[in-house]
Amino acid sequence: AAVKHFPIKQGVIVKREVGRVHAVEGVSLAVRRGETLGLVGETGCGKSTLARCVTRLHQLTSGQILFEGQDITGLSRSQVRPYRRRMQMIFQDPYGSLNPRRRVGSIIGDPFAIHGEGERDERKPKVQELMELVGLNPEHYNRFPAEFSGGQRQRIGVARALALKPSLIVADEPVSALDVSIQAQIINLLDDLQQEFGLTYLFISHDLSVVRHVSDRIAVMYLGQVVELADSEELHGRPRHPYTNALLSAASVADPDQAAARQRIVLTGDVPSPVAPPSGCRFHPRCPKAQQICVEQVPALKARSGDPDTHLTACHFPVEPGEDLTRVTATIP
Ligand code: SF4
Ligand code: MG
Repeated sequence: AAVKHFPIKQGVIVKREVGRVHAVEGVSLAVRRGETLGLVGETGCGKSTLARCVTRLHQLTSGQILFEGQDITGLSRSQVRPYRRRMQMIFQDPYGSLNPRRRVGSIIGDPFAIHGEGERDERKPKVQELMELVGLNPEHYNRFPAEFSGGQRQRIGVARALALKPSLIVADEPVSALDVSIQAQIINLLDDLQQEFGLTYLFISHDLSVVRHVSDRIAVMYLGQVVELADSEELHGRPRHPYTNALLSAASVADPDQAAARQRIVLTGDVPSPVAPPSGCRFHPRCPKAQQICVEQVPALKARSGDPDTHLTACHFPVEPGEDLTRVTATIP
């Protein structure tokens, strides 16, 4: 995707200091209006927890969420309602998130019902309009989810998310359960809808190659922390964190265009438990560049020497362009 430049306005800011749960900790992320911010990391790194905190499906134990300039952190259920309708989620599993016994028209119309908009018969034309918008046949209003393919079911999820004209859509692995050919269709749909309605996306995926195609900026998470944040092209062209390099090298195996360009970096060891994360840099037990200071000191997420100030990396020894990480040996005593 081409890098787009949007004026920076108030967006969503998530701040979270050390909490009881370490899944998402010390994360401070601003999503700019109209952009797609990709959030990438392995399963269990805290991406979904972060997403649920943003939309207030999860309560933060500490920290702050600002949405369109408002602090919504401490709001009650009813107080948060007007904000919740402006931020909607799309989930990974189009099968699991749709009730099989309900008709598709009524599923898509749920947000109208929940937020008390219009009578049932007034909702039907609105729902059919939404169905058309996402490429579903409005005549299939009375069908059940089982009568739709996987890609169509995800379109149902998208239609439901759009019902209340949100400004932010948090898409949690929206295409991971779909065939590759269908993934592209859904991604194109999301892209078209973004253009048409000026939507802001927080796009979560474990798959860096998917995130690359949709994101203006990308945040890489590891064990509940953002370890690198940069414009999408910048991150791919000059990945600075060893973990980002490892993710990219893994992704390039599936992408023959890149296979020659990057050597595969094999991460050793398991992902440590987020309940008792490693000291210092959390990546140190698996990092080919780790040294003693990495065990002792948490690296700050900041612009590193030679990088634009929009490219932030949390690493004491950022990877230099051309550096061969497959030959580096860690020197922890
Ligand atoms: Fe590796 Fe050290 Fe950088 Fe962490 S701070 S990623 S252990 S080099
Ligand atoms: Mg886009």
